[in-house]
Amino acid sequence: MKTEKPAKKAKRAAPKTRGAEKPRAKAKAPVADPRGQSVFEGLGVSPGIAIGQAHQRDGGDVQVIERQIAKSEVESELERFQGAVAQSLRQVAKLKTKAKTFHGTAAEELGFLLDAHTHMLESRSLVGGIRQRIQARLCNAEAAVMAEIGVIARNFAEMDDAYLRSRGQEVREVGLRIVRNLAKATFSGFDHLEPGSIVIAEEITPADTALMNPRIVGGFACAIGGAEGHTAIMARSLGLPAVLGVGALIGAVHSGDTVIVDGSNGVVVINPSAACRSDYERRRKAMERETQALGRLRNVAPVTRDGIRVTLQANLELPREVGQAVAAGAEGIGLLRTEFLFMNRDDLPSEDEQTAALTEIVEAMPGRPVTVRTLDIGGEKLTSSLGAHFAETSNPALGLRAIRLSLKEPKLLETQLAAMLRASAKGNLRILLPMISTVSEVKEVRKILANVAARLKRRGVRIADPLPPLGVMIEIPGAALTADALAKVADFFAIGSNDLTMYTLAIDRGEESVAHLYNPLHPSVLRLMQFAVQAALRARIPISICGEIAGDVRFTALNLGLGVRELSMGANALPRIKSRILNLDMQAATQRADMIMDQYDAGRIAALLDDFNDAS
Ligand code: PEP
Ligand code: MG
Repeated sequence: MKTEKPAKKAKRAAPKTRGAEKPRAKAKAPVADPRGQSVFEGLGVSPGIAIGQAHQRDGGDVQVIERQIAKSEVESELERFQGAVAQSLRQVAKLKTKAKTFHGTAAEELGFLLDAHTHMLESRSLVGGIRQRIQARLCNAEAAVMAEIGVIARNFAEMDDAYLRSRGQEVREVGLRIVRNLAKATFSGFDHLEPGSIVIAEEITPADTALMNPRIVGGFACAIGGAEGHTAIMARSLGLPAVLGVGALIGAVHSGDTVIVDGSNGVVVINPSAACRSDYERRRKAMERETQALGRLRNVAPVTRDGIRVTLQANLELPREVGQAVAAGAEGIGLLRTEFLFMNRDDLPSEDEQTAALTEIVEAMPGRPVTVRTLDIGGEKLTSSLGAHFAETSNPALGLRAIRLSLKEPKLLETQLAAMLRASAKGNLRILLPMISTVSEVKEVRKILANVAARLKRRGVRIADPLPPLGVMIEIPGAALTADALAKVADFFAIGSNDLTMYTLAIDRGEESVAHLYNPLHPSVLRLMQFAVQAALRARIPISICGEIAGDVRFTALNLGLGVRELSMGANALPRIKSRILNLDMQAATQRADMIMDQYDAGRIAALLDDFNDAS
């Protein structure tokens, strides 16, 4: 079988042109033709082609059910309403940033409109009027919003001045945004859509993506979002073609329009011409054939041409992907993100519930390692069930997140560890800690783990003996630079190149306006990785990479050349990476990595890597 070379056009992590920078999400004006076809460009974050009918998530009317509330519910209803207003303000602020990238008068017009929306969301008359209705009429927040905007919009409609009359529509839009945000809190999914629908939205969160069933949703496109954020990762792992950061989509698509999402090239086509559609159909079939061909590698061991064995594991976002990981030939789960347990719900999962979810995954991978990471919530990864633990902070990526939250809320951590220990009795489970920055954090967790284990044993609960290995994510520059010290207290390392890149370069991984500057090939990131790899090799503890570069063929030669022999990635990427490994000479890759590590310019590094990939 023909083995795989890195696709030069791999759009997500690979720049189209050689050099340090990735392509920007272009805020291009749509290219319209007389038949009504429009083409938009954005960040292609999850490869593949989807063709289907648009479901405009933020548009249209919302069904509002009026409900009488008890006096005792008033406070919580007011809180729910204020939460929806705050979320609406955040959304509008993001859209305003996006609007600035538009061309010409479009930027100005949308900017004015969004300023007006902000003003309304902050206005005492609208917000105060709605609060007053909830309190005085004891109605639910949704009904209060609809009633109040109905009155204000009617008042505007009766005005003589045409400009003021048009403001009525804006009030309605603002009201509907608040209602949608209230409704989102009830976690409405996508299962009611026609199979193959394309979801179009201002923003899709990771929790929204978790609700998408690939048998129903064909793909999605939205105005906001960067390539390395969790929405993008989740889309890739579900195999849903997705394009993010397409600001010009706002208002340009209507439910029922035919849409093509080309997640490989970052293109969205609305109402394609017949020729365009058949061209995309042809490309989609070709991709399906390629995937089928790669599928035949399932039982082939990933060994380089010069005989070096590599281990390929899968990252899991959602338990339902475990079958896919097995089908792709994953030799274990290198990273199980447990955030799914906390998403789309208001309460916290119990120890029993967590145990059942983990046991199912461990049992689906008999004899193979399952690396379960403790909760990594905070920053861009927020869930409603933990909302109370997060105050609004100016810099959430640097705030109370991941292991810091777990250590501050020991009950949360103890419940997770107890569930992991109980599941460890059923297979080969490893525990992984996110966002570790100091040795003392690892020691503290180890102590808590020992206490939880002792408690379970006293209760006669079966757990693994000896206790599961306890590993550390290397994803903060400070952790990478002290990897030698961490190697003394950790049983294994997993390099989180996504956060390592973000924190080293001070680039928000989920922010499309700086997405072109996000570059794991920056020499600083590579030096940190190299330092951690060498510390692990010296201490003889296993080290893997589970960030997105592990699943990108462009990086395979460099990852292995640096000395890593274990890669974990979204299951969809695994066959392609295996194909690349079968085609690779480890000695040559090591020499190229040595040459790359002597460079200080990211552009030169990219060129050296691409030349190597082209030639081998
Ligand atoms: C990483 O940061 O590279 C990583 C694997 O963790 P996450 O993407 O979940 O933050
Ligand atoms: Mg991370």
